[in-house]
Amino acid sequence: MHHFDPSVEIQDYLVFGEYGDVNPSITDSSTYTFLNPETMKELFDHEIEGCFLYSRHWNPTNKFLADALARLEASEAAIVTSSGMAAIACTILQICKCGDEIISGRTIYGGTYAFFKNFLPNHGINVNFVDIQDLEAVKNAITDKTKIVYCEAISNPLLEIADISGLAKLADKHNLKLVVDNTFSPFIITPLHLGAHIVIHSLTKFINGTSDCVAGCVCSSREFINQLMDINSGAAMLLGPVLDSHRAASILKNLHSLHIRIKKHSENAIYLAENLQKLGLKVYYPGLKTHNGYKLLNEIRNEGFGFGGIFAIDAGDEKTADALMAEMQNEKVGYLAVSLGYFKTLFSSPGHSTSSEIPKEEQEKMGLSEGLVRISIGLDNNIQKTFERIKSCLIKVGVVKN
Ligand SMILES: *Cc1c(COP(=O)(O)O)cnc(C)c1O
Repeated sequence: MHHFDPSVEIQDYLVFGEYGDVNPSITDSSTYTFLNPETMKELFDHEIEGCFLYSRHWNPTNKFLADALARLEASEAAIVTSSGMAAIACTILQICKCGDEIISGRTIYGGTYAFFKNFLPNHGINVNFVDIQDLEAVKNAITDKTKIVYCEAISNPLLEIADISGLAKLADKHNLKLVVDNTFSPFIITPLHLGAHIVIHSLTKFINGTSDCVAGCVCSSREFINQLMDINSGAAMLLGPVLDSHRAASILKNLHSLHIRIKKHSENAIYLAENLQKLGLKVYYPGLKTHNGYKLLNEIRNEGFGFGGIFAIDAGDEKTADALMAEMQNEKVGYLAVSLGYFKTLFSSPGHSTSSEIPKEEQEKMGLSEGLVRISIGLDNNIQKTFERIKSCLIKVGVVKN
């Protein structure tokens, strides 16, 4: 366990608006004036930094959010994007060119999987999917064309834990970039401390936490962030996934309560995971000693934030999973919806939604059961009551005997 506390980093991030406002002023401009033409020329020639030109490049509000996220992930620098997928796409396209290869975990977010499997090969970039927990398999997949090792710190939807330190050693040895999607575990895991080179978040999930917008970020070295933002060659500048400054401002405000939310999500998740397991259910949660990632996560996690707010249960088959989810929505456990990290509970069946891009036989290989229900637990104040509600739904659909 590590003693690094990202919430202290964010607490120390004290910024003022132009009138001393405690929330930095929202900049409402697409373009910025220059007091003399020389300065504009210098900016285009990369001779000056920290100067605002045009809002697709940088704007002050997005910079405030990016700086706070850099503190969260202990990175030199960060950028924010209009979605998590934009952060992933820009990162990959900045590093890889036609002919290059990527090694990726196979249990990853469905959108990322589809981008890797269906989109990148059209541009000559091929992705090798492996069991990312198997370092030997990762090592064997490396060729002289490999540029990136890609994984999720806690993977979707089986909550597998990546051995980031082990992967980083491999990546360093072969001069590859280790890119880690940390969407499931902000505060809990700090991938850069474990040797990762680039960290990505979908801010849409826990970091924003209110399910009212879509956004993403990339945290890395100043050198890589500058490459992404380069006016003449940066993917984040030229592909144009700019985040609106009003949204950046609202996400920044939500970021400041993230530590409390993560603690509560984790506290609720472990309570439910333990008690549902006691009912005889198959439960996937890395905070359970029976989970294959328990030991590793316990070693690498930051102290005080638990094991995360997501767990999955196996209802057996598709029909029962559907009945269970309908029942849970009726009983006001939460919403039958994709996404996660919301203050209310969200649940969905990964095999038929977010992971449906993954072919059936691949799903079986990963252990992705037809009856799997992924639950992102909310900030429920009375988790015992939530448990009783879920239990009554399980009894009603016949997964648990009365
Ligand atoms: C949602 C999600 C993404 C994609 O983010 P968007 O903000 O929806 O574009 C990427 N990775 C993970 C793990 C996610 O959960």
